[in-house]
Amino acid sequence: MQKVTFAKGDGIGPEIMDATMKILKAANARIEWEEIQVGEQVYLSGNTSGIDKSAWESIRKNKIFLKAPITTPQGGGYKSLNVTMRKSLGLYANVRPCNSFHPFVRTKHPEMDVVVIRENEEDLYAGIEHQQTDEVVQCLKLITRPGCEKIIRYAFEYAKLYKRKKVSCFTKDNIMKHTDGLFHRIFKEIASEYPDIASDNWIIDIGAARLADTPEMFDVVVMPNLYGDVVSDITAQISGSVGLAGSSNIGASCAMFEAIHGSAPDIAGKNIANPSGLLRGAVMMLNHIGQQDVAEKITNAWACTIEEGIHTADIYKEEISKQLVGTVEFADAVIERLGKLPEHIKAASFAKDVKLNLPTYKRRPKAEKVLKGVDVFVDWDGGRVDDLAMKLKSLESDIKLSMITNRGVKVWPEGFEETFCTDHWRCRFEVENGHPAHKLSIPQALAKALEVGIDVIKTENLYEFDGVRGYSLGQGQ
Ligand code: NAD
Repeated sequence: MQKVTFAKGDGIGPEIMDATMKILKAANARIEWEEIQVGEQVYLSGNTSGIDKSAWESIRKNKIFLKAPITTPQGGGYKSLNVTMRKSLGLYANVRPCNSFHPFVRTKHPEMDVVVIRENEEDLYAGIEHQQTDEVVQCLKLITRPGCEKIIRYAFEYAKLYKRKKVSCFTKDNIMKHTDGLFHRIFKEIASEYPDIASDNWIIDIGAARLADTPEMFDVVVMPNLYGDVVSDITAQISGSVGLAGSSNIGASCAMFEAIHGSAPDIAGKNIANPSGLLRGAVMMLNHIGQQDVAEKITNAWACTIEEGIHTADIYKEEISKQLVGTVEFADAVIERLGKLPEHIKAASFAKDVKLNLPTYKRRPKAEKVLKGVDVFVDWDGGRVDDLAMKLKSLESDIKLSMITNRGVKVWPEGFEETFCTDHWRCRFEVENGHPAHKLSIPQALAKALEVGIDVIKTENLYEFDGVRGYSLGQGQ
């Protein structure tokens, strides 16, 4: 018996969770269930995290969590529970298999069989945001070496275990050379350790366009968090319905399983939601806990139901479907078919040993880190940039003003009149002689800024690591 924590969530959550659990029980899943409350009710009771202490205890004790979608109330300082959950429990790998069930579920892509593996903890989802001036807010994008190594290795190990042929990497490293550049670089490093698995790299915009147009070209696709969020919904949708795909969130000790879609308040309480996404999430859970026999039985019964044309409204099409059913009736149809094998859809045969070879992260020897200057961000709406530059000159020491940018574009020296400027200026001070900057130059420059009335909103130190520049140039520099 495996203890599993579950939550019925909000919107269509209770309906699809009841349907899923009914199927799992009928298939004799060896599970002892423990229910917790998360989501809207918890939020509205005044808990801005959407989850209370006892619920955390249950998840951390049982380590396996089946979660129906929840509604995050808009505004009011409510934090997304999904993001909190993934990060607090270290669920770094989000795995979303999206395949078509042609000709039983209508899709323009009958051959597609793509697994999107999304980094789940970092990137812009660090949620570090600040308003810095009247006109400018920022969100910090954090990409880390351990984060990249873990997710990319996970993708290759997943491909190896499930006999997938190729892993593709999606980034935007032509623009974000340091953050996405690190992801891509580590992808190349790790790919070279798996010579039997093909690998390729795509700039996210054209990669996503090709994936939406020709998903058959792709097999396993790995990417940073935000891109993965967007791309996996597109991938699920083009396979037939966002209501079909399940997802696992895997960490070193805990794992959470869910549907990829949200709580669909527009159809809640009407017995029309498709429970397949959550059910397929539950099948991933059964595989994870070593109950492949039950996972296969349910997947095959589900496939029989789909190929017999017993469909919920989201996938019902008059030409191909036989019977339009509600959530409850769909679950009953799956239960009736437990023990049957599908005739057309390939019968499920899951790997029995699903242990991936995921070494713990090893920190590398520290690089030689040399201070080369500082970017001083300034709130200023005082007119001509030359006047700002004049004022900034008084901050110089061994670090000299080398450039001013506005929204990343160089506006001094030799800026263009056409460049639109906000009240948020990045003023770069650098050593000119190649020597390291003096450690005190930066605090002294900031003290001087106070004296001359420059409103410094933040600074970023400029470093070289083992002689390699660790910061981007200005656009136009
Ligand atoms: P959604 O995924 O809930 O719904 C998008 C569309 O797909 C709707 O038209 C809906 O009716 C349809 N749909 C979704 N699931 C379906 C199913 N199983 N069967 C049939 N149709 C289905 O996305 P949304 O409307 O943008 O978000 C609604 C709420 O869900 C928001 O509060 C959001 O924060 C939350 N959400 C939660 C999760 C999660 O808990 N993991 C994920 C995404 C969104």
